[in-house]
Amino acid sequence: MADHGGSGRRCQLVLIASPLQGHMTPMLQLGTYLHSKGCFSITIAHSEFNSPDPSKHPDFHFQPLPDNVSGTDIVCASFIHFVQTYNNNCKPHFQGHLIKIINEQKDKSNKESIVIIHDHLMFFAASVASELGLPNIILRSSSAAFYPAFMIIPKLHQQGRYPAQDSSLQDIVPELHPFRYMDLPYNNRPVEETLRKITMSTPNSPPSASIYNTLEFLEESALTEIRDHYQGPIFTIGPLHKIIPTPSTSFLEEDMSCISWLNKQAPKSVVYVSLGSLAHVDEKVSTEMAWGLANSNQQFLWVIRPGSVHGFEWIEFLPEGLVAKFKKRGLIVKWAPQKEVLAHNAVGGFWSHCGWNSTLEGVCEGVPMLCQPFVADQQLNARYLSYVWKMGIEIVVERGEIKGAIKRLLVDEEGKKMRGKAMEIQEKIKIALSHGGSSQNSLIDLVDFILSM
Ligand code: UDP
Repeated sequence: MADHGGSGRRCQLVLIASPLQGHMTPMLQLGTYLHSKGCFSITIAHSEFNSPDPSKHPDFHFQPLPDNVSGTDIVCASFIHFVQTYNNNCKPHFQGHLIKIINEQKDKSNKESIVIIHDHLMFFAASVASELGLPNIILRSSSAAFYPAFMIIPKLHQQGRYPAQDSSLQDIVPELHPFRYMDLPYNNRPVEETLRKITMSTPNSPPSASIYNTLEFLEESALTEIRDHYQGPIFTIGPLHKIIPTPSTSFLEEDMSCISWLNKQAPKSVVYVSLGSLAHVDEKVSTEMAWGLANSNQQFLWVIRPGSVHGFEWIEFLPEGLVAKFKKRGLIVKWAPQKEVLAHNAVGGFWSHCGWNSTLEGVCEGVPMLCQPFVADQQLNARYLSYVWKMGIEIVVERGEIKGAIKRLLVDEEGKKMRGKAMEIQEKIKIALSHGGSSQNSLIDLVDFILSM
C-alpha cells in the first residue's frame, strides 16, 4: 500500500458524520483509514444526537454541532422530518466552525488544504462547502444500486408506471434489470423529494467526487449506470469494515456474553437474527418471528433492541410458553458485536433486514442469509442476495414459512449451496482488498485525489 506521509503534502479533512449507526460506522472507518496514511488530520463534525465516543479515536478531533434533535425517535414516519431538522440546525454551527478553520490556516506558514467529506444524509455540508469555496466529497453508505433505482422513479411516475399496480409488483423494471417494481426504494412522494436532495446533492454544489462503500465486481451494472450519469470521480473502496481495524463504533453496548454462548454451539448450527439499528416492528410480526424460531428446532441468537417492538420496552411481547422453550436453544440480546458474531464458526445463517452494512458484513464472512427488508435500499439488497448472488432467501414473516426457511438455510442441501456461493464472493472480496485489487487501487487513487485538491 502506498504511504503518502513522506510526500510532504498535508490536508485537513473535515468529516461530517450522520447520527445513524449504519452511517456513522463507515465514516469513522474511512477516517481511520485516511488517518493511517500519515498525511491527513481528521476532524469529525457530528450532531449531538448519537455522538461518537472520542476516547475510542484519540487521533481525531471531534466537533459537536448543536442539533436540537436529541431524544427524537427515528421511526420511519418521522425520518424525513428528522433529517431535515438536523440539517437545518447543524448548518450554521458547521459554517462557523469551518470559517474558524479557514482563518487558522491563513495564519499558518505551512498551509494545509481543507477538504470536506460528508455523509449523503448531511447535505447541508455540501452547500456550506460550496459557499466557502471548499471541495467536498460525498460518502455514500447505501448500496450503489440505490441511486439508479431512486433516480428512475420520476420517469416511472410520469409514465404512470409508478407506484406499480399490485399485479406488476413482481415484474422487472426493464431499465433496472434485475430489480422489480417492488424493489424500488420508496412509494411516498414527500419522502422521495427530500431524498432526491440527498441523492443528487444540490445542483449548485455538486460533489467533487463520490465514495461508495461497495466493490466493483459486486455492483458492476449499478456503478456503470452511475458513471454514465454523474460527473466526477467515483471511488469504490468497500467493504470499509475490512480495510483497517477500527474500534467498536456501536452507540449501544455490545453484549459480549453471546460470544461465550456461541463458543458452546456446534459449527454452523446457529441462525443469527438482527434487523439493524433502526427497524421497528409490530407485535404480530415479532410474535411470528418468535414462533418461527421456536418451531425451527435450530439454535438461534436474536438481537432485539429495547423499544424496537411497538408498545413494548423489550421482550415482554413473548408469550410465557415461548420464553421457556427459547431457553433451551436460543439467546436474546439487546445488541451484539455483529461483525464478531458473523465471523464465528457456530453461525450458519444470518436473518437480516438487509441494511447495506449488514449485507456487506454477511457477504464478507460467507454467511448465507434470510432477507426481511423494510425500507430504502434494503429491498434492492435483498434482491441482490437472493436473485443475483444466490446466497439468500427472501422470507415472508409467518411462522410456518420461517420454520421452513430456517431449515432450508441450516439443514438442507440448498443452504450448503448458498454457503458455497457466499464463500465464492468472500474470496473475490479478499482479492479486491489485496494488493492490486479494485478496492485497494481505489483507496490509493482516493488518497492521491484528495492530496491533489
Ligand atoms: N449492528 C451491531 N450489533 C447489532 C446489530 C447491528 O453492531 O446487534 C451493526 C451492524 O454490524 C451494522 C450496523 O449495526 O454495521 C447496522 O447497519 P445497517 O446498514 O445494516 O442497517 P441500519 O441499522 O442502518 O438499518
